[in-house]
Amino acid sequence: MSNIQGNTSQTRNTDYPLVIIGAGAAGLGASEKAKQEKIDHLVLEASHRIGGRGLTEYLEGTIPVDLGCHWMHCASKNPYVKWADKLGFEYQKDSDFNYTAFSGGKWLEKDQAHQIWNFIAQCNSNIIALYTESRESAIADGVDVESEWAPYAYYWYSLMHSNDVDQVSVQDLFDFDETHEDWPVKQGYGALIEKQGQNCPVQLNTQVSKIDWSSNSVKLTTNKGIITADKLIITVSTGVLASGEIEFYPELPESKQNAIYSLPLGNSNYQFFSVEKDAFDPGTPEMMKYIEDDISMLIHIQPFGAPCAYTSTGGRFAWWLEKQGTEASRSYFEKALVSVFGSNIRSRCREFKVSAWGYDPLIRGAYSSQKPGSVDQRKILKTPLNEMLYFAGEATSLDFLNTAHGAFISGQRAVEEVVNGVESIQFK
Ligand SMILES: Cc1cc2nc3c(=O)[nH]c(=O)nc-3n(C[C@H](O)[C@H](O)[C@H](O)COP(=O)(O)OP(=O)(O)OC[C@H]3O[C@@H](n4cnc5c(N)ncnc54)[C@H](O)[C@@H]3O)c2cc1C
Repeated sequence: MSNIQGNTSQTRNTDYPLVIIGAGAAGLGASEKAKQEKIDHLVLEASHRIGGRGLTEYLEGTIPVDLGCHWMHCASKNPYVKWADKLGFEYQKDSDFNYTAFSGGKWLEKDQAHQIWNFIAQCNSNIIALYTESRESAIADGVDVESEWAPYAYYWYSLMHSNDVDQVSVQDLFDFDETHEDWPVKQGYGALIEKQGQNCPVQLNTQVSKIDWSSNSVKLTTNKGIITADKLIITVSTGVLASGEIEFYPELPESKQNAIYSLPLGNSNYQFFSVEKDAFDPGTPEMMKYIEDDISMLIHIQPFGAPCAYTSTGGRFAWWLEKQGTEASRSYFEKALVSVFGSNIRSRCREFKVSAWGYDPLIRGAYSSQKPGSVDQRKILKTPLNEMLYFAGEATSLDFLNTAHGAFISGQRAVEEVVNGVESIQFK
């Protein structure tokens, strides 16, 4: 047993052996592991709720929609699948989806629709080949701009990385442990994350503004007073770290600061409509790639049979549309639905909802991408400092970067590092 596990309030000078900042998937994953290791700990969360970028809300008060993470990616390696089974959440395996495409004002034949996936598969192979030549390339270098499907590929990558193709290093795509299993959760992935974490010791509405790590323990300044700890796990987004909202004393070493700036958050948002019950014909495919002029979208119709439709935006366009406000997002999605289903659909759309992650001060974007020209920055970000500050969160995952399960596993990994020790940067 390491020191930290048997550490009681009589044998230490701090409030807690371990404090975790942030109750998103990473913080909750860390807390779950700390509970298993019997480490007395506290999670500090600035928001009034747990879940972070996992958030399920309800259209018309009853239809669950995920404003943040939605797909249990890499399902066979995703711990949330086991949690879903344990907690009674239902999910759909993507092999069961009915996909098609709509382009040039008409539905495409199956073969043609398939060409879009083949094109993206070809881009992926190009990008992986590029990585072996030069790890510093951008994924844009692997997309054939002349292809008629290039606009859809640009859109697709902007959803995967939340930054545009010229802003993402090939390493991010190369390192991702893709299993091609993306399973949505019926009651909401955000609701699952919240339920999984409901028994974690979280103190809500507690914002950390300063981390003093100048001595042998950590002193945290929060809006609820000072809290001290032997070890600290930091899970806030790289957007929050880069904003300077949390002061570090002493400042973080240059390598760590470079890693934070090399892993900026992009943006991605969901747009949802609830619709009248029979608004879509019974045979309407559940998922369609929509490509018209300069606009590409993936549109989901009646997920799990619910009377609603949704799409999502990514990259620079997501930042721009979020800034335009709710009405602009509404008409952007409505226009696409009208061009596919005709103008009658307009009067059959009911409540509209849209997420706004870019301007959420506790997140500041969607998920991180490594900038082209930089390598191995996630490794640098995750390396502990002085065996006292530990780092978790989606940006620190080396294989499941950007994802909720990658964040959860990174939190667990950080607790293992606390317990078992790991090479740490010594910084005076
Ligand atoms: C639109 C969108 C779609 C997505 N889709 C998917 C998907 O389909 N599948 C998937 O796997 N992933 C998806 N993701 C990514 C996934 O949601 C994230 O990677 C994951 O949830 C990040 O978890 P985290 O714990 O690292 O960070 P966060 O969830 O950001 O948690 C950090 C927490 O720290 C808190 N905090 C911030 N500052 C402070 C402070 N000063 N003091 C105390 N607390 C603070 C925040 O409030 C937050 O709760 C999506 C994300 C978005 C935005």
